[in-house]
Amino acid sequence: MYRTKPNGFMYELIGGVGQPIAENPTGLMMEAAFQELNLQWRYQLIEANLETMPAVIEGMKSLNFAGANFTVPTKVDVIKHLDGLTKAAELIGAVNTVYLDDGGRWIGDNTDGQGFMRALERANFAVSGKSALILGAGGAARAIATELILAGVGDLAIVNRSRERGQQLCTDLVKAGPCNVRFEHWAHDVRVPGDVDVLINATSIGLGSSQEMPAIIKESIHSSMLVCDVIPNPPDTLLLKTARAQGAATMNGLDMIVFQAAAAIKLWSGLDAPIATMRTALEKGLGLR
Ligand code: NDP
Repeated sequence: MYRTKPNGFMYELIGGVGQPIAENPTGLMMEAAFQELNLQWRYQLIEANLETMPAVIEGMKSLNFAGANFTVPTKVDVIKHLDGLTKAAELIGAVNTVYLDDGGRWIGDNTDGQGFMRALERANFAVSGKSALILGAGGAARAIATELILAGVGDLAIVNRSRERGQQLCTDLVKAGPCNVRFEHWAHDVRVPGDVDVLINATSIGLGSSQEMPAIIKESIHSSMLVCDVIPNPPDTLLLKTARAQGAATMNGLDMIVFQAAAAIKLWSGLDAPIATMRTALEKGLGLR
């Protein structure tokens, strides 16, 4: 039934690796999903930094871990310990999920962008041929931009504070597929062009604060736009509130988190994850319920 059964036991171990890891809510979502799916699996949080990674990976392999999530600061470093990458992970240059293929090889994928795309689907937004603007050029922006291009977005603007990082992302995105990609240096309040269909905040601005929002000209947000934020907490960011006041539809960061975790469960088990249960566990973990 399961895609991964490396040790033949009734249970499997899945890791959640990074630093800091103790307050990471993914484990709560995963444990709730495993229980509902009747999987005798355990999601083990593992504190790891770049120095301790070799020992952590060796330990996980010895203990026959069936998969893992990797988060800050291990998402790039883990690549050198893997046997292969999916196309998305290769294009993004970072891994957030590792699974075992049928030959028991450790394969790295990146489900962040896939999570965002499923959240867009749920919001009834079809990407093909549309115009997107992403604020940010870090890990989340890379994952989202790559998946948008793979899904056929028409044109894509990357707006970032660091010129070098933004331009590098635009250069790397050429490999993802045909798309009209442009870079804009974020030196002053951004005017969102009138033809943008979806505006995405993929920076960390607004994380843990209901008072902060990205520096954009709020009047340039118009009512036919979908405005998305990757910030999970608080989920209803000042950007999203501002967008709604301008008449725009909004999408918060919670669906993306749940769907990226659901995509990981599918890779590990082949099973469809219980989305509603995971969302409830996430909201409880973040203190939203
Ligand atoms: P990175 O550190 O890789 O990137 C951060 C980005 O934010 C960079 O583009 C950085 O610009 C920009 N930025 C930060 N502060 C400012 C500022 N004051 N003004 C302008 N730009 C700024 O982080 P990640 O991409 O990994 O994560 C970004 C956010 O996405 C986090 O808050 C994280 O919680 C969230 N996230 C949500 C997920 C979800 O499933 N909902 C999944 C993954 C991440 P510069 O390059 O100039 O430094």
